[in-house]
Amino acid sequence: MELRVEALSKTYENGVKALDNVTLSIQPGMYGLLGPNGAGKSTLMRIRATLLEPDSGQAFLGEIDMLRQKIEVRRVLGYLPQEFGVYPRTSAQQMLEHLAVLKGLSNRRERKETVESLLQFVNLYPCRRKSLTSFSGGMRQRFGIAQALLGRPQLLIVDEPTAGLDPGERNRFYNLLSEIGEQVIVILSTHIVQDVMQLCANMSIIHEGKVLYAGDGFEPTPPDLEDVFFSRILQLGS
Ligand code: ADP
Repeated sequence: MELRVEALSKTYENGVKALDNVTLSIQPGMYGLLGPNGAGKSTLMRIRATLLEPDSGQAFLGEIDMLRQKIEVRRVLGYLPQEFGVYPRTSAQQMLEHLAVLKGLSNRRERKETVESLLQFVNLYPCRRKSLTSFSGGMRQRFGIAQALLGRPQLLIVDEPTAGLDPGERNRFYNLLSEIGEQVIVILSTHIVQDVMQLCANMSIIHEGKVLYAGDGFEPTPPDLEDVFFSRILQLGS
């Protein structure tokens, strides 16, 4: 399945042009969407997740017209937003069961199996009975991935997922994403160059709503060269 975005534009009511004629083609695997804060990444993600309407342009996921067939898109979409709601006092297992019901997994036995295997996959099974409020940032993100994978999505969107994670947790999260990326389209939106370098074979760079680069991932760049990297890509756009 391919994700195609054609000439998407979006201007907010305050006059900010968040997306300016964005065209991208994305194949299964890990795809990086890299850009500084305010570049337009979240706007693009929200449009793909059917939460926001563009002013013009088109988006297709395989045969699905993403701007018109929203229910079909939601059926094959997993989304881990930047802010993942409030964490109630319920346990990880109870919460995931609850979300699974909302996602339409009505068969009780199947639901239990799905929830348990997802908790195992994200390595939260040993603490499945603990309250979500007691989870660390990394554990919350892994829980976020588990909920995003309910219903076996074809497209998984993760928005700035490693913010606030320590290096160990970040690595664990990277590994999890790479494993998922073997089967589905995973779009990783981030301003962290390292995230994209380590994980994504294909990527695009977005700045001020425009695509400056779309193609192969780059060679890994040491963290202290990130500023150099960004000033170089900003020159590309000027
Ligand atoms: P990123 O995710 O790359 O940080 P965003 O898509 O959040 O970028 O934002 C792109 C631009 O649009 C920014 O200038 C931001 O201030 C503006 N913007 C985002 N959301 C809104 C909104 N709801 N109303 C007005 N402006 C917005």
